[in-house]
Amino acid sequence: MRSGRVFNIQKYSIHDGPGIRTTVFLKGCPLSCAWCHNPEGIAPEREIIVADHRCAGCGECRTACPLGGSQAGEGPLPVRRDGCTLCGACVNACPSGARQMIGRVMTVPEVMEEILEDRIFYEESGGGATISGGEPLMQPDFLEALLAACRAEGIHTAIDTAGCGSPERLRAAAELADLVLYDLKALDEERHRQLTGASNRSILENLQMLDRVHGNIWIRVPVVPGFNADLDLWRGLAAFAATLRHVTRVDLLPFHPAGAHKYARLGRANLVGGIEPPTAETMAAAVRIFAERGLPVKTSGKARELVESRKPSAQEGAGCGCPEDR
Ligand code: SF4
Ligand code: SF4
Repeated sequence: MRSGRVFNIQKYSIHDGPGIRTTVFLKGCPLSCAWCHNPEGIAPEREIIVADHRCAGCGECRTACPLGGSQAGEGPLPVRRDGCTLCGACVNACPSGARQMIGRVMTVPEVMEEILEDRIFYEESGGGATISGGEPLMQPDFLEALLAACRAEGIHTAIDTAGCGSPERLRAAAELADLVLYDLKALDEERHRQLTGASNRSILENLQMLDRVHGNIWIRVPVVPGFNADLDLWRGLAAFAATLRHVTRVDLLPFHPAGAHKYARLGRANLVGGIEPPTAETMAAAVRIFAERGLPVKTSGKARELVESRKPSAQEGAGCGCPEDR
């Protein structure tokens, strides 16, 4: 029976494809984007997280640790401790639930049981299941098995990928998915390395391959002030995206610091501490660059109003390129 490592199953998701969805997050990602809002999904192995605000400082975790942690200090055991075997004794001993193990092995039927619970919502909203990460292509057998199981149940499927995997496995997964959400961060290879720690060469080649074999691709671009929020970077991505034939939507995703607290809880350095979300003006500038290439770019709220306010009149042109103009 196929199984894989899952770090979250998010119900009632409305940001990972059309309609109401269940998003399954697979653990492990080869990229290390500085702004990642799911840092608990980066490491492929399980890890411990401690929610300080729930910790009573009782020290039960130290007492329970077979490594003799009780002798090394007071209060909660630090996470990512040298020698930790991830036995889970400290998690089980924690009376407040402050200490948790992130990542659990689940079988395909176990995941499907959770997905199928909300079938009624998918049918009413045009939603379905999205397999995300981390990078879902790091567990390709499990990914394909989940997609096939959803398809057998008639459930709309999407994968959310950064394209980090073999082209063969990406193609195999995409053939089982109704929609591919494809994350892009930068076109320039060196810039991409600075932002994510990895080359984007295979990512771009994989997207070009995908465009030849799949008819429904949404490109997703994070907009992170101080990292990738600049006009030249957007122009490069827009020019590349415009060469593809099957991009049915471009989502520009404004950075939000909602996941920042997780870094401390995981014992990781937070590189985006103090970074604010992009302004509506910044988002509107990005939207215009993609729209000028004729791409079906999606935005909302104030940024959309700003784009609309600059829309040419009927005498001046056919529209700004937003979906409503088409
Ligand atoms: S999971 Fe690690 S820190 Fe916790 S009890 Fe086991 S060895 Fe100790
Ligand atoms: S057992 Fe839980 S509540 Fe007690 S010190 Fe450890 S993490 Fe905090």
